Amino acid sequence: MTNFGFTIKKTRSFNLSQADMRKANELLREVPSYRKCIGCGGCAATCSARQFTDFDIRKVHNTFRRGQYEKLSEELRKCMLCGKCTLVCPRGVNLRSLIINMRQLLTPSNETF
Ligand code: SF4
Ligand code: SF4
Repeated sequence: MTNFGFTIKKTRSFNLSQADMRKANELLREVPSYRKCIGCGGCAATCSARQFTDFDIRKVHNTFRRGQYEKLSEELRKCMLCGKCTLVCPRGVNLRSLIINMRQLLTPSNETF
């Protein structure tokens, strides 16, 4: 095995092929601009909610994109939908719409689609 000088902790590794990607794929269909996200963190750095809580919007949308939905509904309640993240995103991702769609997809009525 090649030694890159670092390792990924077991607790941070995940198997994408075993993840349930239905909601993540639906999110990409609803908010196509999200495909342009480069994970820069500009959204999290300017987030209004982050000034008062431990909310990390980049972590939330990256986790959702990987098909890991546990506890995200709770996290998303910290967002005030102020839209600041949408204004600063260098890739033009409609984050406000992304957040609203994530909330809808995580509601129980969407569990069976
Ligand atoms: S600011 Fe835009 S490109 Fe950067 S992580 Fe957030 S959504 Fe992705
Ligand atoms: S809309 Fe939500 S995630 Fe975006 S800056 Fe405002 S509080 Fe943060």
